[in-house]
Formats: sequence, structure tokens, C-alpha cells
Amino acid sequence: MRYISTRGGMPPKSFSEILLGGLAPDGGLVMPEVCPKLDLAKLTQLATLPYPELAFEIISLFVDDIPAADLKALVAKTYTSEVFGSADITPVITLEKNLYLQQLSNGPTLAFKDMAMQLLGNLFEYVLARDNRQINIVGATSGDTGSAAEYAMRGKKGVNVFMLSPAGKMSPFQRAQMFSLQEPNIHNIAVTSMFDACQDMVKAINNDADFKQKYKIGAVNSINWGRVVAQICYYFKGYFAVARTVGEPVDFCVPSGNFGNICAGHMARQMGLPIRKLIVATNENDVLDEFFSSGGYHPRGLDRTYETSSPSMDITKASNLERFVFDLLGRDADTLADLWSGIDAGKGFQLSKENFSKMHDVYGFRSSRSTHDDRLSNIRSVFANYGREIDPHTADGFKAALEHRDANIAMVILETALPAKFEDTMLEAIGQKPQRPAALVGLEDLPQRFDVLEANVAALKAYLVERIKD
Ligand SMILES: *Cc1c(COP(=O)(O)O)cnc(C)c1O
Repeated sequence: MRYISTRGGMPPKSFSEILLGGLAPDGGLVMPEVCPKLDLAKLTQLATLPYPELAFEIISLFVDDIPAADLKALVAKTYTSEVFGSADITPVITLEKNLYLQQLSNGPTLAFKDMAMQLLGNLFEYVLARDNRQINIVGATSGDTGSAAEYAMRGKKGVNVFMLSPAGKMSPFQRAQMFSLQEPNIHNIAVTSMFDACQDMVKAINNDADFKQKYKIGAVNSINWGRVVAQICYYFKGYFAVARTVGEPVDFCVPSGNFGNICAGHMARQMGLPIRKLIVATNENDVLDEFFSSGGYHPRGLDRTYETSSPSMDITKASNLERFVFDLLGRDADTLADLWSGIDAGKGFQLSKENFSKMHDVYGFRSSRSTHDDRLSNIRSVFANYGREIDPHTADGFKAALEHRDANIAMVILETALPAKFEDTMLEAIGQKPQRPAALVGLEDLPQRFDVLEANVAALKAYLVERIKD
């Protein structure tokens, strides 16, 4: 399998060549040159496989430059009951007839990002050792992504992580999660400013091509293709868990921000998994709901990005959307490059009538938005009706699922985080603090390790230079 850019300006590359990169050199996102297809007979074969074997079968369709035995071992080492809490890896529970919750957040940081990041950690270590290379991941986080990256990369050979976060702005739980890591390759940097300033510092490092190359700076952001591939697997697992016969249609509902998670659902559907609807759930930051209900994509600036009680969805520019629109346009890279040069310049675009219908009728997309009050009332009603605590992001998904549900068709809501991460909102909704997994009780009392920096690029560079050895 070779990879191309959505904007048409990259000669095809292998999986290993794109794994450690971010954007394609032309500013686009990488996509497989062709989408692998699975027929009903093949799907039936996969239906009963345990998670690691299923994941290997799917991932190997996208990776042909790692020997199968090695890839199989990497996948098996990633998806274990030790790391994900059960042999099922993504257990599916029934809320009521034809309404299901697929748990994606039982990994080390209690959010679905672990599903992909844990695999990425093992893939990175393998490829770096094989090619005798090193990578220094520099990122900014306000919560979930940074901790998922650190838990995936901790102790991995050839990898250093430098994670910037706004000093004093994360929840005590999130801070403890990251700062309690003691591995010497993990560097937590508390910046005495806001999240935007952290992000600007990371951007400045990435815009300095010489520095970036000399110090082997990389990233693991949401556009990384390896993350999308890993996420495709759990749509298969969820489908097989609820479909009575392989071939019947199933709907999926996905709390969305950067469009990474549901982009994997789109890929699974393109591969032939019988997904009928893909429902994009947003919060008050409803750029994606606007797109799927009007065909207009208008990313917003930080001045129109609201802080909500489902904070990991507070995104008003959905980077992975470019991948779906590439397919929607029949993979016409020239038209896509035109649209996205507008986006990069701060403009929006409007789909043609024909493409607008296509994204519903051919690609199955629907969308919905919810508010803080919706989240509270849905957390409450799920707790009252089914005895289950769901987190605020999953509550956004629950609302969207009810709106688009067809009682005769199975609907799977993806649970993207555990309520334990959002104590305040849970308390507000149901008057009690959520339960914490036993392993995390007392997390805030562990010793913390971090450095403090001012929001200053020169200071960050000096910090990196001092710690990056050849
Ligand atoms: C990151 C995240 C999301 C959004 O996922 P995307 O892939 O960015 O669409 C939703 N919920 C939680 C809890 C997350 O951490």
C-alpha cells in the first residue's frame, strides 16, 4: 500500500515513510492510494476474531513494509487486557434494544485516544530502531492528547516527548496524570500562559525548518495516518458485536472534534463494513454540524471557539475533514487543493448541491449539536434509565444518537472518555462524583515531575537543545 496527498503534490510513499511525518510536503493529508475492500465472505471470517487478531488483519491491509510476523507481534503487544482492562478491549454494552455503547476509554488515560496512541508508541519504537533513527515529539496540550501521547511513548527507545501545557489551567487530575510520569524520556513543560501560547510556541519550532531537522522534531497530532488506521479496527469490532447477521446495516454515532475518530468510521465504511449512518455529534462548537447540515464549511477563529463542558470537542477547525472531502470529491486533488488553500487563508467554502446530497445519500453522514444543558440532562437520564454514568462527550453522542435513531436498526454510540475525568460536570449532573478505576485512586498524591518555562520560543529552544542528544 502506498500513500498519496489529498492535494496531489506528493509522490507515493510507503507506510514507514509517512508514519513519523505530519502534513504531506504540499500541506495536504496522506491517504492510501486505494481503499482496500472486504467482501461478505471476508467479513464473516473476521467476525469472530479476538481484538488483536482482528486489528492485525485490518492494519496489515494498510502496511506492507513491516514483515507480517513483526506487525502481528506489535499489535498483540498493544491490545492486551493489562493495558485496556479486558480481553474484549472495546466492550460493547446494551442500553436497550438496538442502542449500544462501545467503550473505547478503558486504556491508561481513560479516553479513546489511547486506542490509537498505544499502537503508535509501539510502531514508532519499532521503525526508529530498525532505521536507527530518533524522534523528539514536541506538542501542546490542554488535556487528553498530551497524556495519551505520554502514556504511549513512556520508556520507548528512540523517542523523547516534550509536552507543553498551560501552567495551572488543567484539572488536578489531568495534571497528575501527566506530571506523575517518571520516565526520563517524558518532559512536561508548564508554560506560564494560556493554551494558545503553548500552541504558538510549538508552531514556531515547526516553522524553523533548520532547527526542526537538526533536532529531529516530530509530532503525533490527530492528522497522523497511523492513528486513523488504528481507529478503523474498533468500528469492525463494534459492528461484529451488535450485528445479528454479518451484512445487516448498523449506525454509529461519534462525539467529534477534529474529525479523526469518525474519519476512521468513514474508512471502515469505504472498506465495505455495512455501516448505514455515521452521525457526527458536536457541542456548542458546531462547525461540523453546520457543514453536514448546510454544506458550508466555515472554520472559526479562537475568538469564536467556546470553552464547554465537553472540552476535547472545543475545536472549530476539523483537520481530518480534508480526508473525507477528498473522497467526496471523487479524489479530485486539484479541486480539493483549491478549496483548502482557501481554508488555510481563513476562508470557508460551500459544497455544490450534488456533493451536499452525496454526503448524506452515498456516504451516510448525519450530524447534531448539543449544549451544556443537553449534556446534563442526558447524563442524568442515562444514569436514571440504564444505571450507567457517561461522560460529557459521550453525552453529546447520546443526544445525537436519539435524534437520528431508527428503532429497527442497531445504533452504536462510541464512548470517548470515562466520567472519572470530569468530576465537576458529573457532580453537577447527578449530584455525585464518578467512580475512579482502582489503579487511579490517589493519583493526585503521587510525586510530580515538570519544568516551568515562560511563553518564549528562545527559552523553549534552549530547553530542547540542552536535552536532545545525538
Ligand atoms: C479527542 C476527543 C474527542 C474528539 O475526537 P476527534 O477525533 O478529534 O473527532 C471526543 N471526545 C474525547 C473524550 C476526546 O478526547
